[in-house]
Amino acid sequence: MNYEKTRQTVLDAILEAVEKGLINGTSGNICMRTPEDPTIVCITPSGVPYTGMTAEDIAVVKMHEDGKNEWIEGNYKPSSELPMHTAVIRNRPEVNATVHTHSMYATICAMGENPELRPITPPQCEFTPVGIVSFTMPGSDEVADKVKNTLGDKGLVCLIKNHGMFSCGKSMKQAMHATIYTEEMAQTTVIAKTLGTYEPMSKEAEKAMQDLIAADQAV
Ligand SMILES: [Zn+2]
Repeated sequence: MNYEKTRQTVLDAILEAVEKGLINGTSGNICMRTPEDPTIVCITPSGVPYTGMTAEDIAVVKMHEDGKNEWIEGNYKPSSELPMHTAVIRNRPEVNATVHTHSMYATICAMGENPELRPITPPQCEFTPVGIVSFTMPGSDEVADKVKNTLGDKGLVCLIKNHGMFSCGKSMKQAMHATIYTEEMAQTTVIAKTLGTYEPMSKEAEKAMQDLIAADQAV
């Protein structure tokens, strides 16, 4: 089997996401660039339950220069949401992993007139600001473009209205942390707003924390 290590990393990540309740059924998908070839990615397959899945079931896709994606290996065809993952991976050379979930609280926070997700605790500041993408049909090139443009050059997470969220990172660990902490941020926001005690970190504290995280990562 080719790209075994990357396929296993994708499989382990999707099982962790299922275990943490970030993914139900076959909603959500995870993708990773292979270290062997930066134009090849491994992604969870379409419509197959994640529990009981093997590394051979993870699809391997070649990203061609003309923008086309070609499924080259794997027992099942790639997720229908492949274009969203490859749009971001193609646009950001430093991004090696992408995670998309329909997790409950992030989805709730993506609704409303002017949704905004602010950090409640210091570790969440690594992943803010969180962008917002308006609803567009899943799997379309249009939603892929919107997610890519909303993340821009530096963004790590965006919410997608009436759909879920999308995270990316230089490693699978960072992309998974982005997903976990964004869902935590959304959950604490929803509960605090329900209780009437919502008080996110100040912009100053958020900036100070981000400077600290950047200095730590630079070491
Ligand atoms: Zn989706």
